[in-house]
This record gives sequence, structure tokens and C-alpha cells, in this order.
Amino acid sequence: MTDRWRTVAGATLRHLEALLLPRACLGCERPIAGAREAMVCETCWTRLAWLPHPRCQRCGHPGGHAGSGAECRWCPLLPPYVRAVRSCCWVPGGTAERLLYAFKYEGWHRLGHDLAGRMARLDWPEDVRRERAAFVPVPLSAERRRTRGFNQSAVLAHALAQALAEAHGPAGAPARPDSVRLPVWEDVLERTTATATQTRLTPEQRLSNVAGAFRATTGAPSKLRGAHVVLVDDVVTTAATLNECAATLWDAGARIISYVTFGRARAAGDAPLPRG
Ligand SMILES: [Zn+2]
Ligand SMILES: [Zn+2]
Repeated sequence: MTDRWRTVAGATLRHLEALLLPRACLGCERPIAGAREAMVCETCWTRLAWLPHPRCQRCGHPGGHAGSGAECRWCPLLPPYVRAVRSCCWVPGGTAERLLYAFKYEGWHRLGHDLAGRMARLDWPEDVRRERAAFVPVPLSAERRRTRGFNQSAVLAHALAQALAEAHGPAGAPARPDSVRLPVWEDVLERTTATATQTRLTPEQRLSNVAGAFRATTGAPSKLRGAHVVLVDDVVTTAATLNECAATLWDAGARIISYVTFGRARAAGDAPLPRG
């Protein structure tokens, strides 16, 4: 390659790369200072409505105190075989909703790695860290997958597995229970029906909307038998979708299921989201 071609090729690559990156922060639309590959500015990351402490040790919901004798208002949503649930920040509203919208609907897939990076920092009970065998993304229907082009939960699951392995597994260090790169099982659950989007439904409608919407694949029982698996979704609202997936996995042989999401909707009695 001549020098001239090398220069042209280099410039073209830089141009293409620039096209693959947002011109401004996906949260606030202001120019991003610092790292060239950043998609979200530091101000937006710090302004996210992170779930406040204290949180329930089981369901991760703010205000619950499992073990202290106080009632948790979120745990009753969960079936008994769900061990723990963790989420990063409140939705809808605010920066978190803008980021999830950019990720899901505006084609910024790479943002999934930034979101999963935050999910990887969530604190889990020791038994979950020790036992979890795989991440299982909530599947999309074939039709929804065709129109969206990708499954956002699968992108998050793969990025989360990678982020956890990198965070806890420095090269040459002795293996710790959480330093292993967990597999992502995209082949155990499938969505049988293209359900209506849950966004505008009441809690009762959400339940009936997803009833029977998932089934285990024929190969699922051999993988799931006795396993503790972690379901991954972008957002949890009433847990109707995740509970339906968990019931399907449990019927197919999984024995313990945990959930992880980036966003979580407030429940009745939670403090309203601050503006901004
Ligand atoms: Zn910003
Ligand atoms: Zn709870």
C-alpha cells in the first residue's frame, strides 16, 4: 500500500468510526469531553436516578429490609424460587429512560456495554455469586426481533458476562467464583407469541398479556436441571414478564432463578423520581 493510500484509508476509517459514535452525549446531547469513544458524559452517569439505599437484600427494592422483620412491598411480587433481584436505576423518566431509548430504538447497540458495565457493579448475595450457572436473556418474539434487528436483553447478557469476567478475573490471578465468564444461554427459552408492548398496560393486563408467552426449548431441561440461572432484561416493572420466564425455566428443571435489569419502575409508595 502506498503512503498516499494509507493516508486515505486511515482517514476513511476514522470517518467511519466517527459515524459509529454519537456526536454528542446520548443523555444530554452536549459534546462529550475526554474519552473519544464515550457515548454518555460523566455528568449524565452521575445524574442517573440510582436506586437508593437501604435496599431489600432479596429483591433489591429500596426501602425493603429482608431479615429485619420489616415488610418489603416488592418481594410479594416474586415466586418462592426467585432468590434475588438487582437493578441499577429508576425508570421511567430522566436520563435512564433516554439511554434505554437510544439503546433499544435508535440503534446504539454499543451503549449496551456501558449499561452492562453498571449492571456488573451490582452487589449480590454470596450464594448467588457462587451458584449462578448462566445468564438467560428474556427472549423476543421472532417478529419483534426482525423489526428491531436485535434482542436488547441478549446484548446486555453477553456484555454483562464479559464485564464481570474482566472486573474479577485479572490474568494470572487465582480463579474466584465470580471470575469465571458465565455462559449466556439464548437457547433455553423462546417466546411463542408476539405480545403487545407492556408499556401502557395495567398490572393485571401485564399478567394476562404474558401468560403462556414463553416455552422451554427441547434442549433446555438437560442444561437447566438443578441450575441457578440469572434472567436478564432491560427493565422490570411489575415483574410479570420475568416471573413468566422464571416459571417456564422452573418447569423445565431450573431450581433457583435470579433477575438482573438496568432499570426498575417504582412501586406504589416509592418516592417520586427527582426532576432532571
Ligand atoms: Zn450527558
Ligand atoms: Zn424485597
